[in-house]
Amino acid sequence: MKVSIIGSGKVGIATALYLIEKKVADVILIDVIKNWAEGIAMDIVQASPIRRYDVSICGYSEVSKIQDSDVVVVTAGKPRLPGMSREDLLRDNIKIMKQVAKDVAKYAPNTILITVSNPLDILAYVALKVTGFALKKVIGMAGILDSSRFRYFIASELGVSPKNVTALVLGGHGDLMVPLPRYSTVHGIPITELLPKSTIDRLVERTRKAGGEIVSYLKTGSAYWSPGSSVAEMVECIVRDRRRIVPCSAYLRGEYGVEGLFAGVPIKIGRNGVEEIIELTLTTEEKQALHLSAGKVKDVIEQLETENLI
Ligand code: NAD
Repeated sequence: MKVSIIGSGKVGIATALYLIEKKVADVILIDVIKNWAEGIAMDIVQASPIRRYDVSICGYSEVSKIQDSDVVVVTAGKPRLPGMSREDLLRDNIKIMKQVAKDVAKYAPNTILITVSNPLDILAYVALKVTGFALKKVIGMAGILDSSRFRYFIASELGVSPKNVTALVLGGHGDLMVPLPRYSTVHGIPITELLPKSTIDRLVERTRKAGGEIVSYLKTGSAYWSPGSSVAEMVECIVRDRRRIVPCSAYLRGEYGVEGLFAGVPIKIGRNGVEEIIELTLTTEEKQALHLSAGKVKDVIEQLETENLI
């Protein structure tokens, strides 16, 4: 299997490393900066005798090298700096996504496309429109990361292994994302049975702001290890047809009462991309939170359409 990563910055490199270490597939790294991806790939592959992997990794500036990839990941784009929201990246990153999506449609028309660049749900929409791919073949990476963060915070609070914890975060990948305590468990026990509401509220709020918290420490960019591992997990599910249920940003056609947008929902992810969208029963309050979050994405898309930007 061939996996290409367009954008060999911090998230792209972290993704590549996790994929290579897990021997998921041969990896192609692409970056617009001349020779950058070649250098990164060279550096990673020279550790192969020590790390004991025999899958290949190559880097190029020419995007045509993604030809016939089974999975393409787009991590090209600017990251957040302190004080910025993900939406602040829109004007720069939409141009990049439009060009990259055109290239993906040209060189890898049968691929599954995972978008990562922010603002996530909006750029996934742009990628879908530009490529004209089937809906199930374009997936945004967000919920798997946001859920991982929520899982970690729950595990730390309870002093249990993170492996013991499952959690679900729905909605858009922004400060209005919707962590769902009712669907978050420690070995099947809902956290609502284990923690008081005030503590859960604090963990929910920390999850919503977790990306920004890291930006405030890093100052020159945003998180990359946890995002990279989240992308690698999605790629592995596709390449190995794992059919795991994970939250991802998928195009919704009325599911959860959301129409014609990308939003974070539980999906079954496998060889064909989105194998199924899982619809859960939500309380009125959870539904309202999801619609508020998706509504923000919708407003931006309508604005872009008015300006003929998509
Ligand atoms: P980075 O600046 O380290 O890397 C971005 C790379 O993209 C750079 O190397 C740049 O040269 C390259 N690039 C730009 N235009 C390109 C093009 N047309 N073709 C090929 N390469 C191109 O940034 P990063 O930290 O790796 O973040 C990348 C993106 O991912 C950002 O938009 C960031 O906001 C986003 N992100 C999303 C999530 C998520 O949960 N969805 C998490 C973290 C980061």
